[in-house]
Amino acid sequence: MGEKFDVIVVGSGIAGLSAALAAAKAKSKSVCLIERGSERNSNSYFAQGGIACALSNEDSWKNHALDTMNAGAGLCNRDAVNFITKSGPAAVRELMDLGLGFDGGNERPGMGLEGGHGKSRVLHIKGDQTGREMTLFLKKIAKEQKDIHFLESTMLREILAQKKKYSGIEFLGNDEPMFSRSLVLATGGYAACFEKTTNPATTLGSGISIAQKAGCEISGMEFIQFHPTTLHTLLGGNFLVSEAVRGEGGKVVNGRGKTIVDPLDTRDKVSIAIYRELEGGGKVFLDTRGFDSGFFRERFPTVYSELIENRINPEKDLIPIETAAHYTIGGVKTDLEALTSIKGIYAAGECANCGLHGANRLASNSLLEGLVMGKIAGKNAANYKGQKIMKTDSSMKMDSSQENAAWREGIETEAGLAAMKKTMWKSCGVIRQEKLLTQGLAAITGLEKKTEINDSAGSLALQNAFSVCKMTIEAALARKESMGTHYRLN
Ligand SMILES: Cc1cc2nc3c(=O)[nH]c(=O)nc-3n(C[C@H](O)[C@H](O)[C@H](O)COP(=O)(O)OP(=O)(O)OC[C@H]3O[C@@H](n4cnc5c(N)ncnc54)[C@H](O)[C@@H]3O)c2cc1C
Repeated sequence: MGEKFDVIVVGSGIAGLSAALAAAKAKSKSVCLIERGSERNSNSYFAQGGIACALSNEDSWKNHALDTMNAGAGLCNRDAVNFITKSGPAAVRELMDLGLGFDGGNERPGMGLEGGHGKSRVLHIKGDQTGREMTLFLKKIAKEQKDIHFLESTMLREILAQKKKYSGIEFLGNDEPMFSRSLVLATGGYAACFEKTTNPATTLGSGISIAQKAGCEISGMEFIQFHPTTLHTLLGGNFLVSEAVRGEGGKVVNGRGKTIVDPLDTRDKVSIAIYRELEGGGKVFLDTRGFDSGFFRERFPTVYSELIENRINPEKDLIPIETAAHYTIGGVKTDLEALTSIKGIYAAGECANCGLHGANRLASNSLLEGLVMGKIAGKNAANYKGQKIMKTDSSMKMDSSQENAAWREGIETEAGLAAMKKTMWKSCGVIRQEKLLTQGLAAITGLEKKTEINDSAGSLALQNAFSVCKMTIEAALARKESMGTHYRLN
């Protein structure tokens, strides 16, 4: 690895792209943007509903902040909420000025209403393709910057830090560390650690585990948002039926056609109602048959075509739904400067926890968080003086007990992953109980000991996922009371 970079950014979702652009802009610093795979490895690409932002004249950032605080069940960091909701309009306008077009036109963009929002404030692109369009747009701009170097198909393996100071990183398949003045982690969340999930299979939280091993403080891991309305597809897996479908008037009904919950309640309440009905042997559906003819297809083209592929016509048929792990609130703890507990390491987006969401995320607040906090992280990382950029020095390596290099035979990676996901769904899902959590922790610990270790990306991801699962269950056990997304029966 011959090059030297001032800032390394890991992850090319909305937070990573926003960080890389801000870092390059801040002081024309050299930036290396590391991405594991294609856009399809990021949650950002799949965001459907849109980006929440108080842009309309009938709205204000204070209203947005209030709704965010209410959803967060008393655990939000008020300063983070105020900062991000207040920064939202300017951040979105900046994207518009760069040429990103929102539905309805940038003068008066259309604003969707979603659960928990007191006002219609969710901007969207091409109906339900907001994440895809934003990601591709930001990536195109980032690729045009001469100061941003893309390192593709590269997986972070380890962060090197000593005495609470960052020094460099290591990748899978490359023994030589890479040093930079600062690092931005934008590696996304961990909802694919659960059997039922709306996330791409690679969203296993490896960045959080790697940061924890390097000494970063982690917080809020127990708070997992379960999306109430997902379709279990004919091919397996859970496809998200956007929150905005309920915002547009979709009802949540049981097998007898009875409405079981206010469709505009926050996700935790809707999820619990649906989960209970399903656990009791019932069925739950989204009813959109009252929508004007052609509206569903036009407003939600991606969802519409997925439904049709699954032989469901939302204008005529009820849509069968179930809950699935969707968004993870916990992660690497940061302050409002996106700084972690280690100097030189910044974190933003779903891998981070800056306190915006508290115990529950308000719908469509995470693209906004990634955009705003990514920018702060990139700017601060560029301005951080840190170390002189060093040449490779093997003495900077962490002690060998923390390395993942030891080979071991055991349960095959795929089987270990499947067992882990099942355990997490059963023991640490929508409704939690002390006994199941304790059993889950023992099962994950046992699996971790028995699963093979090799130098494949899958094996590395699984080792890190085991750590993330243990942190999640331990946090869920430690928080005895129900709060936001964390619902305990006992
Ligand atoms: C189906 C779906 C719909 C959603 N809809 C909305 C919505 O409408 N509005 C909203 O606000 N939010 C929505 N969300 C949530 C939102 O998309 C995410 O919270 C947000 O995009 C996270 O952005 P991020 O940049 O932090 O992470 P991601 O976009 O997940 O990007 C993480 C990046 O890190 C890389 N990476 C991970 N580990 C490593 C490693 N070890 N080495 C190298 N690279 C690594 C990944 O490959 C990826 O590039 C949705 C999520 C899903 C799954």
